[in-house]
Amino acid sequence: MALERDILVDIHTHHPRPEVLSPRMAGIHPWDATEEFELPDFASCDIIGETGLDFVYQVDKGIQERLFRAHLEAAKRLHKPVVLHVVKAFEPTIKILEEYHLKGVVFHGFVGSEQQATEALRRGYYLSFGERSLRSQKTQSAIALTPIERLFAETDDNPELDIATIIDAIAELKHLAAEELKKELEKNYKRLIIER
Ligand SMILES: [Zn+2]
Repeated sequence: MALERDILVDIHTHHPRPEVLSPRMAGIHPWDATEEFELPDFASCDIIGETGLDFVYQVDKGIQERLFRAHLEAAKRLHKPVVLHVVKAFEPTIKILEEYHLKGVVFHGFVGSEQQATEALRRGYYLSFGERSLRSQKTQSAIALTPIERLFAETDDNPELDIATIIDAIAELKHLAAEELKKELEKNYKRLIIER
């Protein structure tokens, strides 16, 4: 698959648009974690998720972890990347991830400190930033230090939001031309999603 020129990459959206390149996802969100679960068919998805841990949400941590690990097992077996939803659970998530050798890991909607960003980046993980990331002061510093080859932009669940606006804001924070960042996002997409 060849990428069209000038196509914008949105790594995590629940509102796919024909003019925007986004991966097909499959997974059970940690908010929906239950004792008994049946994993979706991952065969036709590009990325497994969102999966992860959310320690603010009222679902038992152990139940969340079991479900998360089931996704990671599948990702490892199928050689597919994962997109993570992580809230107030950064350290345990990093620990669990270390047990799996995955094709690729994307922390979606990353909100966190420079130190957390550095910890994820040095393991080769990608950080994806959206509206909430841009509003958080400490995360702005994390965005500034994230190399463009490890970065994604996203609109997540906001159908009003234009991915170009997010990309422009990230580019400005990083003192980059938006065009340059757009090209780099395409490369990242290709490396993570398309190349097998
Ligand atoms: Zn989402």
